[in-house]
Formats: sequence, C-alpha cells, structure tokens
Amino acid sequence: RGTSPVPPDVRPRLTVLSGPSGVGKSTVVAHMRSVHPEVWLSVSATTRKPRPGERNGVHYFFVDDEEFDKLIANGELLEWAEFAGNRYGTPRRAVLDRLEAGEPVLLEIDLQGARLVRQSMDDARLVFLAPPSWEELVRRLTGRGTEAPEVIERRLDAAKVELAAEAEFDTTLVNTSVEDVARELLALMLQA
Ligand code: 5GP
Repeated sequence: RGTSPVPPDVRPRLTVLSGPSGVGKSTVVAHMRSVHPEVWLSVSATTRKPRPGERNGVHYFFVDDEEFDKLIANGELLEWAEFAGNRYGTPRRAVLDRLEAGEPVLLEIDLQGARLVRQSMDDARLVFLAPPSWEELVRRLTGRGTEAPEVIERRLDAAKVELAAEAEFDTTLVNTSVEDVARELLALMLQA
C-alpha cells in the first residue's frame, strides 16, 4: 500500500493512548489524524450523549444502554469501562482485522480500559499522556465549557487517581505541545 507509513519489516502493534480526562488525548489524536489521515483509529461505542459537533460513527458510535448491554453480551467489545457515569467500549473485530492486516492500531481510552487491554494483549504498547502540571489539567477540565459543574468535579476526582497510574505504562508523553506529542506518538506506533 503506497500510502502506508509502516516500513515493510515492521509488524505493527496495538498502541493504547491513555491518561487523565482533560489531558488532551483526543486533541492529540485529532491532530495526528489531520497530518496522517492514513492512520486508522478505533471508534469506540459509548452511552454518553454527543457533544456539539460530535458525529455518530466518526467520534463515537453513540448507543443506548440496551445496545451497549448487547455489545457486551455478544462479546463484541475488546474492553469496556464505566467512566463518569457513562460506558465506553472498543469494538473488537475492527481492531483485530487491522492488526491482522499488518496495520498499526491506536486506541484512545481511559485507564481502566488500558489495564484490560494489557491483560488480554500482552504485546500492546501503553502510552501515558501526562499534563504539564496539575494546575494545567484543572484549567483544561474547567475550561472546556461543555460540562456541568458536577460532571467536572467527577472528572477531577477521577484524574487524581489516574495520574498515579503513570508507573504502569510503558512510555510517558508530556503534553506540552500538540504537534510534538502527535509526532512522538506516531513514531511509537511505527516502532517494532
Ligand atoms: P469523553 O467523554 O471525554 O469523550 O471520554 C471520557 C473518557 O473515556 C476518556 O478518558 C476517553 O479516553 C475514554 N474512552 C473513550 N473511548 C473509550 C473506550 O472505548 N474504552 C474505554 N475504556 N475508555 C474510552
């Protein structure tokens, strides 16, 4: 494939990008996609309601509780987790198909999901995205402006616990510049 960024002698692995909510995971991923549209990104299913501008099948597959139950029951999720009152899960088949086709795969998921992936796929590469500082993380979580105060509070509580998880990860990237982190992330994805 002429457009593939993968060198021919490299067998791509599953790369998992995780970190506290609000640290900028989705911004980094969106930037990488804009520079490298050929990189495939798993689209998660979620019971969360769409934010303004989010499109079904692009940012998430937006499903109701009953549909999410069905995905779990049918074994269609590689992992799933409850986060701040909603459920999120990675569709299994699409990820495995891409890996079998020799393409790099990126998951952008929460910490619980990252742990589950580690258990089921031991060659997965776990990348922790860290904020430059706690103050910066609070600023980002508060400044998004799309969430109610109690939702922000729950996300800050979760973030305190999540920051301590860095030690469980293979690699840490500090989110000082979206461009730099996106470049570093792609380089990791293309490593053997
Ligand atoms: P948000 O509601 O801000 O889009 O996402 C909330 C959290 O859920 C983020 O930390 C995001 O990475 C995580 N998340 C998104 N998709 C998945 C998924 O498929 N599985 C898991 N475990 N977490 C996910």
